[in-house]
Order: sequence, then C-alpha cells, then structure tokens
Amino acid sequence: MIVAKFGGTSVADAAAIRRTGEIVRGRLGRAPVIVVSALAGATNALLSAAELAASGQLVAALEHVSQLRDRHLATISELLGSGPEAHELRAETSLMFDELAHLAEALSVLGFATPRSMDAVASMGERLSAPICAAAFSQMGIPSVAVDSRQVMITNDDFGRAAPLPAQIAAASHAQLLPIIAAGKVPVVGGFVGATTSGITTTLGRGGSDYSAALFGAALNADAIEIWTDVDGMLTADPRVVPGAQLIEHLRFDEAAELASFGAKVLHPSTIAPAVERDIPVYVFNSMRPEAVGTRITFEAPPCTVRAIAGKRGVVVVRVGSPKMLGTPGALRSIFEAFDRYRISVDVVATSEVSVSLTVDDDPSLLKAVEDLRGFGEVAIERDRGIVALVGAGLGGSSPSMARALRAVGDERLHMVSLSSTGINLTLIVDDAQVHPVMRLLHHEFFGGASA
Ligand code: ADP
Ligand code: ASP
Ligand code: MG
Repeated sequence: MIVAKFGGTSVADAAAIRRTGEIVRGRLGRAPVIVVSALAGATNALLSAAELAASGQLVAALEHVSQLRDRHLATISELLGSGPEAHELRAETSLMFDELAHLAEALSVLGFATPRSMDAVASMGERLSAPICAAAFSQMGIPSVAVDSRQVMITNDDFGRAAPLPAQIAAASHAQLLPIIAAGKVPVVGGFVGATTSGITTTLGRGGSDYSAALFGAALNADAIEIWTDVDGMLTADPRVVPGAQLIEHLRFDEAAELASFGAKVLHPSTIAPAVERDIPVYVFNSMRPEAVGTRITFEAPPCTVRAIAGKRGVVVVRVGSPKMLGTPGALRSIFEAFDRYRISVDVVATSEVSVSLTVDDDPSLLKAVEDLRGFGEVAIERDRGIVALVGAGLGGSSPSMARALRAVGDERLHMVSLSSTGINLTLIVDDAQVHPVMRLLHHEFFGGASA
C-alpha cells in the first residue's frame, strides 16, 4: 500500500487532473491512497475572499467566489462532459459554493473572521477537489471513491494549525479507507483539511497536504509516501531562487526535515516526522515528468558535507540580555516558556553567559511574548532578517566546509551564526533582502553554476 499526494499544480485543471490520473493508473498494483490539494491557487483565492468579506467588501468577496465556482464547474465539464455523473457532481459542487457564499455573507455581517471561520472557508478547496479528482479518475476507468477528509483526519481544535490525533486518525483510516481498497477501488482524500472529534472543520496549516499524506501513510503503515509536485524532486536549492539548482536523488530524513523547516517549501516541515516514526521512505516526484528519477528520503543516504541550501525570509531576531539573570538556573527555560505560551516557534538560538539571541517567525503574538520577556532584562527586536541554512549530514564534522561557507559570504553582515547540535545545519542570519543573494553565493561555492 502506498500514499501518493498530488499538489495544487498537479490538479490545477482538467489536463493536469488527467495526467495525475495516468500516474495513479500506473500505481494500481500498489493499492494507492490518493491525497489531493485544492486546485492551484484556490486556497489563496478562498482566503482572500474571506478577508474581503470580513473587511466589509462583500461584493469583491462574492466576485472571488463566483470566479472559483466558474473554474470548478468548467473543470468538471471538461473532465466529465454532460452525462448524469457530471450533472450530479456539478450540483454537489454548486451546493458547496452556495455554502461558501453564505459564509462570506456571515463574515461580512460579523465584520471579522475567527481562525475557526477561516478554516471553514480555507477547507473548501480540498473539499471541492477530492470529489472532482475521484470522478475524473473513475471516468478514466480507475474506480475511485472520494472520502471527506473530515471523517479521517482527526485533529485538536487549534484552528489554522490543528495538531493531528494519530490514534484517532489510524482508527478512522482503517475503518474508512481500507474497505475501499479491499473493494479494488482508489480512495481519494483531500489533504490539509481535518475535523475535531466533534466534527468541526480544521486545517493543518498552509502547505499541509504533504503532512496529511505522511499522517495517512503512518496510520496505514504504507510502504511509501509519494509527494507529486511541479519540480523534479528535492533540489540543492529552491529553483525559483537559484536557477541552477540540481536534483538530490537521495537524502536523509533529518536533512530533509531541516531543509523543509528552513524554507524548502517542496515539503511541509511536519511531513518527515510521521515517516520517520514508521520508517517509511518518502519520495518526491514531478507530475509533469513522471518518468524522471525523483528524490528518495530515508534514514541512510550516501555521505555528503553540504546536501542543499535553504532560505527563509521575514524572520525576527529577538535578543534578551541581562547580566544578573542569565547565569541563574532556569533562565533559559523561562525565556522559552514565554514563546511557548503564545505558540511561537523558535528556529535558531545562540547564547552567551549574559544574553540569548533567537529567531522567530513574525507572529502577531510576538509583542505579547516580548512584553513577558521584559521581566528578564533588556529585550531588543530586529525585524527584516532572514535565515540561510546549509544542510548536510557531514557538515558539523567538516571545519573546512564551514570555513568555506563563511568565506563565500564575504563581507555580508551576519547577525547570528549557529551550528545545530546534530551538526547537520549551519544557519546564518542575514538581512532579509540578502537571503536570496547569499543563497546564490553559497550554492555557487558548493555546487558550481552562476553566483548572482
Ligand atoms: P505543491 O503545490 O505541489 O505542494 P509547492 O509549491 O508547495 O507545491 O512546493 C513546490 C515548490 O517548492 C517548487 O516549485 C519550488 O519552487 C519550491 N522549493 C523550495 N525549495 C525547494 C527545494 N530545495 N527543492 C525543490 N523545490 C523547492
Ligand atoms: N491547499 C493548501 C494550501 O494551499 C494545502 C496544500 O496545498 O498543501 O496551503
Ligand atoms: Mg506544497
């Protein structure tokens, strides 16, 4: 059994959905569970509609809704023609858009959107795409059944970034997905979307369909988790930033997890953990070039010093300094607790005897955490920073490679430097605007190709 996830560009329109169908056909012998994202751009359009509605611009919000409705209905017509199945699916799809329009109206009356109502809106993309893909595959002779992910992806009620409940997901996946496979059919589940134990719709956070696939893979103890996207696999850097980025055929789980956490959007940062837990290999493939080799991610991979470079913009550096506090036991714990209280995750840390510097995402709650920190001493915030991460299992053991990295960035202002305790990640904190140029410099140094 395998779980194969297809991202937004792999289900963007009728042609892409058919291409995806052919890939699914090629995997029928492996009992696939298919996870799909929303049609490319649909989640962004939905969130814009919700924000417009909540800010009183209902007409503009409904315009977004209407464009999305036309796009989905046109895709159905192109895929299924005008038979009874097409008619039924069009009717179901229209009903969901009616629900969406009502939600938009409700938001405009309220004048604000809660995380819970944003999830109700954002979830629509996958709730729409899964039935469309299942119907398209069936039409292609691949008997498929759409499964509402809210029946299987059970989460807590932390709306906007809900935490999965693995035991419940395993029980629900066994009960709902295995009988479909046993009947010789292909379950098609929307990624990203879940529900609480009482059935309230949640989402796992942006880009969360990869995470859904990994969670279903672990729940069903799959033989492989496949992530199908719009690039050939995991590359030595984001190809949009470094045009000469090269394919990584094989890397380690820990390397992939670091890259994902530090900006390699090709994988949601939480994707690797469920795979590690069950030792399930993760593959990344290009749905536009299914014959290409792709990337394999496992516990062991051929040794390397630098495997890839990632970058993350829009990071904030927080510095806490206090000569009296920091020597005392428990000071670091209290500082981390201040961030934990507001669920702000800390990425990079550097300490001295009298100060701690750390990086966090620019979160709306950051100022509250900073207020709490003032109890410890002086707190300074530096916005407009970014992280560049060099990742490779052999990096920490290779001082020449680290020296080479620092030499390569030349006179660039470094606000922090940190080597992870495992030695697989050297992070450099630079000015936000310099993230991409520094990525290119480092890529040129370690992988060749253009430097600017
Ligand atoms: P999907 O919609 O299929 O989930 P995403 O847009 O979320 O696709 O992720 C794929 C994108 O990730 C690529 O188009 C690429 O620009 C970006 N990306 C960032 N870093 C990397 C990397 N190291 N390797 C491959 N792609 C990367
Ligand atoms: N559709 C969701 C998003 O755009 C989830 C995903 O594509 O992974 O964030
Ligand atoms: Mg993605």
